[in-house]
Amino acid sequence: MNTLYDKLHGLDPEFYTEDRVTPMLATVERIKKLKRERNAVVLAHNYQRPEIFEVADFLGDSLGLSLKAAEVKDADVIVFCGVHFMAETAKIVNPEKVVLLPNLAAGCSLADMATGPEVAKRVAELRKTYPDLQVVTYVNTTAEVKAHSDACCTSSNAVSVVRALESQHILFIPDQNLARHVALHVPEKTIIAWDGYCYVHHQITPETVMTMRRQIPGIKILVHPECRDDVVALADAALSTSGMVEYAQASKATDFLAVTECGLSDLLQISVPDKTFYRACKICRFMKAISLDDVEQSLLQNRFQIEVDEPVRSRARMALNRMFELTGETRDNLSLPDSVANE
Ligand code: SF4
Repeated sequence: MNTLYDKLHGLDPEFYTEDRVTPMLATVERIKKLKRERNAVVLAHNYQRPEIFEVADFLGDSLGLSLKAAEVKDADVIVFCGVHFMAETAKIVNPEKVVLLPNLAAGCSLADMATGPEVAKRVAELRKTYPDLQVVTYVNTTAEVKAHSDACCTSSNAVSVVRALESQHILFIPDQNLARHVALHVPEKTIIAWDGYCYVHHQITPETVMTMRRQIPGIKILVHPECRDDVVALADAALSTSGMVEYAQASKATDFLAVTECGLSDLLQISVPDKTFYRACKICRFMKAISLDDVEQSLLQNRFQIEVDEPVRSRARMALNRMFELTGETRDNLSLPDSVANE
């Protein structure tokens, strides 16, 4: 499959008709020209619409993109095709660059479940009982919440970050399912979970997994750790989005079910075309908010610029740096398929 039409039509023949894809081809070419004119790079999360991958310089999960954002030294503009907290992270590590989020509807209901004042209040209460309490925030949080934390983490390094911290008591914000996943793997510590959840992963039920297991013997079930624990318990592996791509590429199995957001199923099928990926995924309305037209207008009109106040930015930056120090992660030692150059 070589052309954009073949790729997209192969994913969803009913939606990606020739009438829809032909104008996209022209938009892709205009965006590539604008990127050169503005010295811009496009970072795209694995859950984006597949046509967005065509203009992306780098694809990845939150961790891969956080690291990439810290290294785009030569670009003047970063267009972030993901959701708001990710674009904020790009701004936190690139304060001198213009960071654009092409559509402000690309928020995140999980990130919105914790605010800075709420976290400050809860931490003050808990420290009366646990003076050694440290705060770990999943990157799916606002810059303001990151600024209240001792270290950030992603779904792929949450266990390592919590294990490496010196404190016995950890307040884990904001995802309760990921907190449970961490508690299971770090039983020597007390994990106090915030009560947030991702509406996309939380609605996936054990019945979905069991039905696929019954229907396709030998199928490998890969779930995201933001899923409920009764779903995680039924899976072959609980992995971040890039971890799932790696797993599918390395596995001898031919049939997979990726229990996560639908964008990953699309990416898996594109990245590993010789294997079969069954879809029992859910769509995140926030992740699908950005269109190719939004990306073009973003570059033409410099919209929508992400700003983070300096005191918040520098505290949030410290929490992100702590994550990298604790895990020793850099671009060089990541084996993530998140550097898929399209040009
Ligand atoms: S999939 Fe969940 S965590 Fe990710 S952006 Fe959507 S609502 Fe937020």
